[in-house]
Amino acid sequence: MQTSFQIPRVLSLNVNTLKPASAVQSQEDQAGDLPENISYDARGSVPDHGPLIPNPAHYPAPSRLPERNPMETTWGFGRFENAYNDQIEKAVEEVWEHPDYPLDPLTFKALVAAESAFKKDAVSPTGAVGLVQITGGTARAYGLRTSPPPDERRDPDKALPAGVKILADKLTVINQPNENEDYGKKVAEYYAREGKPNPEQMETLALAGYNGGGSTVVRAMAYAIEDGKDPRNFANLVAEDRPMTETPLYKAIKDTFGERFASGKYHEMGAYPGRIYGIENREFEPLRGKRIMVDPGHGGGDAGARGPEGAKESMINLGVSLKLRDKLEALGAEVRMTRDTDRKVSHPDASQSEELRARVAMANSWPAQVYVSVHSNSAANPAAHGTETYHSRNASEKSKEMAAAVHKEMVGATGFRDRGVKAANFHVIKNTHMPAILVETGFVSNPVEEKHLTDPEMQDKMAQAITNGVEQVFGLNANRGEVSFADTGKIIEAPVEAQ
Ligand SMILES: [Zn+2]
Repeated sequence: MQTSFQIPRVLSLNVNTLKPASAVQSQEDQAGDLPENISYDARGSVPDHGPLIPNPAHYPAPSRLPERNPMETTWGFGRFENAYNDQIEKAVEEVWEHPDYPLDPLTFKALVAAESAFKKDAVSPTGAVGLVQITGGTARAYGLRTSPPPDERRDPDKALPAGVKILADKLTVINQPNENEDYGKKVAEYYAREGKPNPEQMETLALAGYNGGGSTVVRAMAYAIEDGKDPRNFANLVAEDRPMTETPLYKAIKDTFGERFASGKYHEMGAYPGRIYGIENREFEPLRGKRIMVDPGHGGGDAGARGPEGAKESMINLGVSLKLRDKLEALGAEVRMTRDTDRKVSHPDASQSEELRARVAMANSWPAQVYVSVHSNSAANPAAHGTETYHSRNASEKSKEMAAAVHKEMVGATGFRDRGVKAANFHVIKNTHMPAILVETGFVSNPVEEKHLTDPEMQDKMAQAITNGVEQVFGLNANRGEVSFADTGKIIEAPVEAQ
């Protein structure tokens, strides 16, 4: 539905005015910046998003988003989510300095979202909240002015290149461990023996390092080597098969920050890469959590309309509906079907009205948030043909929107005659308590359309068309003002190591 997007791979050496890594190297030994308020929320609060649990299943890096424009995401940015795409891409292109480890602008965008505390309008055009959460000391070390106002951390042209530079420096620390330290030496020797982390492993390690410090990551890697584990795999640093206090990451954090901060920092830092990848996954699932009832009309003893070659409407409806279910589920929706085989919905001897009531009851009692009934049309005149989409006579605006969106997609996908969006009080769309439509895919009574309707490829196109229409009306992109990021994580105020 969107044109594909080429991740810019034009990477260049650092030509910006930010200070090099060596300028902040000395802070490394001071166990990082001391805690300071890293929330830029104008109201002075960070909402409680519940506990962060490091989950090894979140690693390694996620798959990419090949068929969408990955910069057109909704997560983390609320209404202004895409306002800074250009600056993000520019910052990555101009500041990233590791040609062997390309930085995907989307990954950096996810990091910005994570750093912006996962709340609606975290990035606002008024600069009310920060783009990249950088402690004051680190910000100044990277050449940003924090006072007197304006605080340059709130200026995307300044904060975004600084964020990229900081991430690049974390990666440098992990890529070239400090061999003057025992832990650094141990990791360097491991690299010499087994090779350095691959780009995906390095990305995960560097993201954890962004949150908690590159040298803390290297320390954790050294502990993993002592355990006989591959230190390049971040999951081995937060392994679930032992108590937290025995994990390499916890031990390293305790070394760096002390016991007082170790538990909180472990949960924050350990969950951090997964949280970033979690944001990314969200874009795969624009219908995440939406409860959708798919209703293939007829079934069992009730075949519905019949085609001249004997095609049964009930089977066409079922074929389209099963494909529709799979496509909706792939977008994250929770889908139930009134039937998923060739049977009646309530009981084998059910009357037509019992059947219709049973379908409505399933949707209303769940309750579904969206209802789609799939039928095929029939007429005495075999020449009648085309597709039409129904909402009820007193339909809600959302029902009308969904009917219009689905219908447009259906006509485009099938090439069938456009018979229009219509209003009718069919039992299932009149009595369901949620936005509801009934799609008449085509005329099974028409010899040409009968062939099309029984063709699995055409059924797939129809299922995709209905999916597209539903997504347009109920997907994340359609509801950008209502998207809540409250369940995605919490920025915990904790010390941040300089590297
Ligand atoms: Zn029907």
